[in-house]
Amino acid sequence: MKYIIILGDGMADEPITSLENKTTIQAAATPYMDLLARKGRNGLLDTVPEGFAPGSEIANLSVMGYHIPSVYEGRGVLEAASMGVDILPGEMGMRCNLVCMEGDLLKNHSAGHISTSEATELIRFLNNELGDDIFSFYPGVSYRHLLKMKGGDKYLHCTPPHDIPEQPFRPHLVQPGNDEARGTAEALNRLILASQEILSDHPVNKKRIAEGKSPANSIWPWSPGFRPKMKPFNEMFPIKTGSVISAVDLIRGIGVYAGLEVIMVEGATGLYDTNYEGKAQAALKALKEKDFVYLHIEASDEAGHEGDAALKVRTIENLDTRIVKTIYEETTQWDEPVTIAILPDHPTPCAIRTHTRAPIPFLIYHRDIKPDSVEVYDEFAAREGSYGLLHGDQFMKAVFESGK
Ligand SMILES: [Zn+2]
Repeated sequence: MKYIIILGDGMADEPITSLENKTTIQAAATPYMDLLARKGRNGLLDTVPEGFAPGSEIANLSVMGYHIPSVYEGRGVLEAASMGVDILPGEMGMRCNLVCMEGDLLKNHSAGHISTSEATELIRFLNNELGDDIFSFYPGVSYRHLLKMKGGDKYLHCTPPHDIPEQPFRPHLVQPGNDEARGTAEALNRLILASQEILSDHPVNKKRIAEGKSPANSIWPWSPGFRPKMKPFNEMFPIKTGSVISAVDLIRGIGVYAGLEVIMVEGATGLYDTNYEGKAQAALKALKEKDFVYLHIEASDEAGHEGDAALKVRTIENLDTRIVKTIYEETTQWDEPVTIAILPDHPTPCAIRTHTRAPIPFLIYHRDIKPDSVEVYDEFAAREGSYGLLHGDQFMKAVFESGK
């Protein structure tokens, strides 16, 4: 048996008036997901444990069967893994945004979605000027970078910069979570203020201001953590080898720590124009060579954040006809049976344009599974599924046990 998880990020939703009170999955024409729901078994999965925010990294770690309170170490270290930066014992990794300040206000969290080439120049400059034995900066994509600190204490209260647009930044500087973390918090806040002094006059920013764009005139480190203690996936579940395919750094980083091969697909953008066919073919190729594939598609989440229900419906239809159909039709012809599981990580309802922690619908199919009574794939039909409501690693166990 081989196994493939097809994950449509943020695909679940709530009934929407403009869609005749249907969810985006219900409104989308999804003949292949419906077929697999009908021929397979269904259920709901709780992907966000108590006390954690419904971020994609939390929900995807959960789907993969990891116990969040024991493995979660923030975004920085996951992105670091995807960037090829090792976080060693005794080191702390943090997501480091390049942000735009206007006086005392944090104007935006992305420095006006600064280009990767401009940002790379600024991060290298910061590393030359402010990097030392303790701090080092690593360039990532657009406004998303990495700050590594030797000997840092992770018990800090950090504010995600996208939560405080147009607000005074000083009340949101890093706060220590306990007495031992005081030194770390102070060092980070000195670093933020020092970055502001040297960034404002940098030629990249002068040019951006002249062009009417937001300057990247401050760093904003947040989401601190140590190297995650994640067991390799093949020690948790009965597979030897596996791959992850995703356009998103966080998901690829999870793959690195899980010991899965990370496959890059050309034209996989994470947006609506993503290379669906390329991803489907890459997944099929990986599945021929390995036991397990985790295929993550971001587009539906982006449409949810835009609040665009019609666009979200199209992303789900694309997932159905350009990914699920291809993978189902091809693997049906293989001698070795393939288990196909389909689910989102969390809902991203168009009405509120952000993630929620509601349980998500899933289906599990292979050619010999005994079907339950569910006829279509959606949030409501899945409630009647034979798996009921699952938590934690129960979903991944169900995937691997369904073939027995
Ligand atoms: Zn999202």
